Amino acid sequence: MCLSSLKQSGLPRTLSTTFSADSMGKLLSGFHTPTLSTRLRYLVIAVFSLTLGIWLHGTLASVFAIHYLAFEAPEAPIPNQHVSPATLYDAIIVGGGPSGLSALSGLARMRRNVLMIDSGTYRNDPTRRMHDILGFDGVPPAYFRHIARAQIAHYNTATMVNGTVTAISPVSATLDRDEDDSSSFPTDPTYPTYPTLFSVVAHLDLPSQKLENQTLYARKIILATGLRDILPSTPGVAEAWGKGIFWCPWCDGHEYAHQPLGILAPLPKVPGLVREIHTLNGDMVAFVNGTDTPEQRAQAEAEHPGWAAYLASRNISVENRPVARLVRLGGDEEAFKDEEWRQFDMLGLPSVAHRDRFRVEFSGDGDGYVERAAFLANFPTEQASPVGPDMGVELVGGRMEVNNKEGLLTNVPGVYAVGDANSDNVTNIPHALFSGKRAAVFLHMALEEENEENEKRPNVMRSVEKMGLESTQGLVKRHEKLDVRDVWHLMNGEPESPLYAR
Ligand SMILES: Cc1cc2nc3c(=O)[nH]c(=O)nc-3n(C[C@H](O)[C@H](O)[C@H](O)COP(=O)(O)OP(=O)(O)OC[C@H]3O[C@@H](n4cnc5c(N)ncnc54)[C@H](O)[C@@H]3O)c2cc1C
Repeated sequence: MCLSSLKQSGLPRTLSTTFSADSMGKLLSGFHTPTLSTRLRYLVIAVFSLTLGIWLHGTLASVFAIHYLAFEAPEAPIPNQHVSPATLYDAIIVGGGPSGLSALSGLARMRRNVLMIDSGTYRNDPTRRMHDILGFDGVPPAYFRHIARAQIAHYNTATMVNGTVTAISPVSATLDRDEDDSSSFPTDPTYPTYPTLFSVVAHLDLPSQKLENQTLYARKIILATGLRDILPSTPGVAEAWGKGIFWCPWCDGHEYAHQPLGILAPLPKVPGLVREIHTLNGDMVAFVNGTDTPEQRAQAEAEHPGWAAYLASRNISVENRPVARLVRLGGDEEAFKDEEWRQFDMLGLPSVAHRDRFRVEFSGDGDGYVERAAFLANFPTEQASPVGPDMGVELVGGRMEVNNKEGLLTNVPGVYAVGDANSDNVTNIPHALFSGKRAAVFLHMALEEENEENEKRPNVMRSVEKMGLESTQGLVKRHEKLDVRDVWHLMNGEPESPLYAR
């Protein structure tokens, strides 16, 4: 039975909209363990659904649909979205793609007081499904982020907010406050001499209000700001990006295996791309867009000696005419109507063949066109955000340079760069997850070393205690041995303070 017949049969209309994302997520997230009553209910509903399915000439899909409905995932907690300029965060993470989320998860699990600010322009947003991420193969990227956020929201020292960071600056370890500054940021002259402290200016889009140019403070920064793809202006390219044009064979190649493929790249890049994808596609045309010139051939020879013979041996033809436009002839929109395909998808299979089709039209002399199912492309990228370079983080090959041995630390002390944006030159989600975790581990240890140093100095220690309250609202450092008097000290400040009550 298909979804439309489920709807017609009077089952909740929301099923059709929630099924592909929500139920898949319940399945994948492992959030819930069914109780006995849920199991009983499942049994009853499954029997009912089988009967209904048979009655409506249904298929196994109906049973699965009801199965998902019968399992109630617990409500995800609402993420902590309270930001405070009076807080000294252990770390602020800029960017909430997979690398930022990974860093956030690691730090939250260590009870670090960490804030993630995310402007929500994810690099893989255009794609329909993400692949080669164990346990999440074939799910929509938004869904992956949803599950990640819902899980991290269980850790109450993590704060996630929507917003854009516009500037980050190192600040002097001893903070002075302007006369008219009404913020409650600590001004104690014995303020801990942390080796690194940063002010972060951001536009924040909080549930209750929008805050412009809000200044926040953190001891460490993780830049998880990602890359931006620079697409050519050729008509049809932007529309097909991530939906027929892909750059990563590992991410999208399998869905077009054995289909007629085009390569969109300058000539010298073609042999490398063919090497990457040849196990998937035999029928390939390289659209080099006028770059088959003596100079480019020489460059191809320098980069891939014997390239021409290699392409010939793989039966790759090179089309040098400038590409005027790509015209979509068909796509998954058609396939979505195909119930058989859809039901496979509903069963959560990781890889389903895509059905895109395009016509490549040329400018200049000569008519004719070439039809292809999809394209492997090589387009340039740039940093998605200037905040790292603006604060002095050095770039190498357009990526923020990091020291792997120092846990992906940049040249700016206290600033780490993770994910696509860093100089690892690996741009995929497994790397984003790994690098976020790596930076989190090193950052966590660095903070602890600094704390240890500070605790050796009694005057700093006093402020650290005070800071413990300011920075953590009691969450990060658990004051397990507090007696009533200690609590009084923490709540009322220092003995010399006018507010201090004996
Ligand atoms: C079309 C396409 C399909 C892909 N498919 C796959 C796939 O199937 N499998 C796979 O492994 N990889 C895939 N990738 C690669 C994958 O998208 C990236 O490797 C991954 O997104 C990198 O994660 P990230 O966290 O570094 O960056 P992103 O996911 O790009 O996240 C960066 C985040 O930082 C935010 N940000 C930037 N600047 C600021 C700022 N100043 N303030 C606040 N927030 C900011 C952005 O808005 C964004 O939310 C694909 C890429 C593309 C382009």
